[in-house]
Amino acid sequence: MHAVLHTSPAHGTEARLRAFLDEHAPETPCLVIDLAAVRANYRSLRDELPEAGVFYAVKANPAPEIVRALAVEGSAFDVASVGEIDMCLAQGASPESLSYGNPIKKARDIAYAYARGVRRFTFDSDDDLEKLAANAPGAQVWCRFLVDAPESGTPFGRKFGCAPQMAARLLVRAAELGMDVRGACFHVGSQHTDPAAWVAGIAQAAAIGRASAARGVVLTSLNLGGGFPASYVTAAPALREHASAIRAAVAEHFDTPPELLIEPGRAVVATAGMIRSEVVLVSRKSDADEHRWVYLDIGRYQGLAETENEYIAYRLRTAHPDTPDGPVVIAGPTCDGDDVIYQRTPYRLPLALRAGDHVDILDTGAYTASYASVSFNGFPPLPTLFVG
Ligand SMILES: *Cc1c(COP(=O)(O)O)cnc(C)c1O
Repeated sequence: MHAVLHTSPAHGTEARLRAFLDEHAPETPCLVIDLAAVRANYRSLRDELPEAGVFYAVKANPAPEIVRALAVEGSAFDVASVGEIDMCLAQGASPESLSYGNPIKKARDIAYAYARGVRRFTFDSDDDLEKLAANAPGAQVWCRFLVDAPESGTPFGRKFGCAPQMAARLLVRAAELGMDVRGACFHVGSQHTDPAAWVAGIAQAAAIGRASAARGVVLTSLNLGGGFPASYVTAAPALREHASAIRAAVAEHFDTPPELLIEPGRAVVATAGMIRSEVVLVSRKSDADEHRWVYLDIGRYQGLAETENEYIAYRLRTAHPDTPDGPVVIAGPTCDGDDVIYQRTPYRLPLALRAGDHVDILDTGAYTASYASVSFNGFPPLPTLFVG
């Protein structure tokens, strides 16, 4: 089956990924990553915000090939577990370039990270700070606060961070415990399309800095987290808009600009990936129903986890371009009633679409393979292939 362009002309990455898939015809579903696009995305982040150190958030796509390519580019890494630390070190990242950014850690995992040379840690509670003081004495620390900004496309809710007043208290306490206090950090939530969210976080961080300085602890660094968006069905603002809003807010709120850090995940890998899937079944729920149900061989459990609540609407490419289309509900292959990908987002697919046709899912390099279940309902996890 040939998957060809459905609507817009291919840009370089899309054409390269499709050519690879057509030539090698791998079993579907599978994800292909264009490592050249990963490198290009990293470079544009670095170039748009040259004053910020870039820590790639490994959870967005933890493929060792991606980490190795980024380590060669000079990227640092935001890691969340012992497994991610070991993988990054094995791919050539230096321990100094790793930031243990998960505020939910076991004491023995902190001790392990410290023993392997990791010296950058994030915390948001007294409990984690005490574990850090005991198991990573004198390490560099950032305190994560809850940013007061509108929700993102895939919000974190209140799971991470503490109130700004508490962050100031915790940072002062960290200094008393002998930690190397660096500053505050926040994360606006993933796929955030409003640069004003970072502006709010920067203003709050400046207030935390003033409160800590009043108690003798000077903050020299600010970690702006991730959240930089990718374009899906809905286009996201250019990175440049985020960068200029960030730059203006730092200039407005800080007398002495802090060292800036960013932790992009999605913005590095999303547009570098394409999933090829296959139509398993096309059906209708009643003879009168205009909607067809299109069941793919990939769904919520093989890597499309971010379609939960239809938060992320991916662009699709199918066979039968420029032929009549009609409305569809798109679902995954498992026997789980929640394994429906899109039923509210108005997707249309060609009326000629049949079982066995390919559906290519664009911009799926982030939060796909890493979310695939090991073997729910007997469907294997999503394999990843690489070009470039
Ligand atoms: C997930 C995560 C990121 C990356 O977020 P994106 O929205 O993918 O950029 C950055 N920092 C931390 C601490 C995270 O948990």
